[in-house]
Amino acid sequence: MGQVDRGTRAQRPVVAVVGGGIAGLAAAWELVTGPGPTPTVHVIEAGNQVGGKLRSTEFAGRTVDLAADAFLARRPEATQLSEELGLTPRLIPVGATGATVWSRGKLRSMPQGLNLGIPTRWLPLARSGILSASGSLRAGLDLLLPHANQSTQVDDRAVGQIVRRRLGDQVAERLADPLIGGIHAGGVDHLSAAATFPLLVTADRQRGSLMRRLGRPPTPAQQLASPPPSAPPSPLFWSLEGGTAALAEELATALVERGVHIHTGVAVESISRQGGDQERWVLALSGHLHVADVRTLPDGGSALPVDGAVLAVPGRQASGLLGPHSMRASGLLGSLDYASVTVLTLAFPAEAIRSNLTGTGFLVPRTSEILGHRALITGCTYLSRKWPHLARPGDELIRLSVGRYGDTRPDGMSDDELVAAATAELASVLSVTSQPTESRVTRWHSAFPQYPVGHLTRVAQIHESISSLPGLAVAGAAYHGVGIPACIGSGRAAAHDVRRTMAATSSP
Ligand SMILES: Cc1cc2nc3c(=O)[nH]c(=O)nc-3n(C[C@H](O)[C@H](O)[C@H](O)COP(=O)(O)OP(=O)(O)OC[C@H]3O[C@@H](n4cnc5c(N)ncnc54)[C@H](O)[C@@H]3O)c2cc1C
Repeated sequence: MGQVDRGTRAQRPVVAVVGGGIAGLAAAWELVTGPGPTPTVHVIEAGNQVGGKLRSTEFAGRTVDLAADAFLARRPEATQLSEELGLTPRLIPVGATGATVWSRGKLRSMPQGLNLGIPTRWLPLARSGILSASGSLRAGLDLLLPHANQSTQVDDRAVGQIVRRRLGDQVAERLADPLIGGIHAGGVDHLSAAATFPLLVTADRQRGSLMRRLGRPPTPAQQLASPPPSAPPSPLFWSLEGGTAALAEELATALVERGVHIHTGVAVESISRQGGDQERWVLALSGHLHVADVRTLPDGGSALPVDGAVLAVPGRQASGLLGPHSMRASGLLGSLDYASVTVLTLAFPAEAIRSNLTGTGFLVPRTSEILGHRALITGCTYLSRKWPHLARPGDELIRLSVGRYGDTRPDGMSDDELVAAATAELASVLSVTSQPTESRVTRWHSAFPQYPVGHLTRVAQIHESISSLPGLAVAGAAYHGVGIPACIGSGRAAAHDVRRTMAATSSP
């Protein structure tokens, strides 16, 4: 690749956002709406559409999300972005309450008083039937046995290590793993408590019962942050008319209206630093961009010089791009493990489902058996109950998830085999008497980053290593949370970092 032609350098700084998932789109939004001079922004997305894991499709005459279908209302980032985009009137709350878990051969309602999968009250837990009698007694010991103040404990442990020790194996396997592990398609015995449930670490350090600690009413500071009692109750999750993927679609439209260039079907293959004493980053692209300042390369690709870049791509891709510039950050990102999941979207005749569908769906613990073998399905969403706008007389839309960290069986199965095996399990759980009338299989390879014990330290080291690379920042699900709000927050924070370090290097 040749040198950057400094004669063509535009007045406005140019920033590339690599990756057009929700984190990348949020970064671009922050770059064009945030404080300070507005740079020229290019979003470069390898796939043929932006949105990443926010994707929907037409299915059985409706628009259905194929991955993320809701975002947490309690965290502000996604609701605030919806507000900025004028989408608040389109927010839709979940239409059903409660969920069940497959345990001891049947679906059982989740007990009242769960705090992210950890029981805070013993009686509803014991009555739920999710645990055996001995499992309930084991959990109850938490209320009786003295637990010393552990303030000297190490900062991070696996969620499972804490829960197994304090509440027993059954609580860890039948509640914490499906609920906390499920958010990452991971397992509680590997996931960092500090990164996924910091309150659990705090509660475990204190004296007395873990359940009581986690069930404590909010502190005055937390209460101040909550809406006043007169405010209408806020739902736990939101989606949008047109599906959760509409958030990414509307954001992309708003970006184009603000002059952001969005390029799809073009991957960033490498990044280099060029230009002598006025150095810029040069992105080597897999295809050609029809914009000024781009040079065509002999292999048919092109080179785009930029002043800053947000790498909003999954960990492994970020590792590859950062390799020549920070071996440390690249190594840390490269060692991040991922879980793959497959989503089966199914339509059934309503009369074919004999069981009552209560709540939004059910979860299947990884230790469960269905039809005499280790269950393949990890969860089931009653789509047309959870989202009433998807309901039509005469049918029922169901979504099944298969595959999680440590269970790669779906990788070795064809789509038809997966549908057959998963619907057989569903038929056994919900007494379904016919095959689906329509089905869609969506495989999400290496979709969920696994946050191991020590994850937050690793992330701090990654950010610290990258801080020496002017105008470069990373964003996305690999760092501070996999949920949509966390990814939006990370994209916006990365945009701030890029602006700040670009300004620092351009000032005399
Ligand atoms: C099945 C499933 C269900 C989920 N459900 C929920 C849910 O209900 N609620 C929730 O909050 N979260 C949910 N999540 C998690 C959430 O959707 C994701 O963590 C989040 O969308 C990730 O956003 P991102 O921008 O970090 O990454 P991505 O969406 O992965 O975007 C990264 C983008 O970078 C592109 N890219 C990669 N390499 C390059 C390159 N070299 N050059 C250019 N582009 C590149 C990719 O093509 C991709 O589009 C779910 C995830 C999955 C898979």
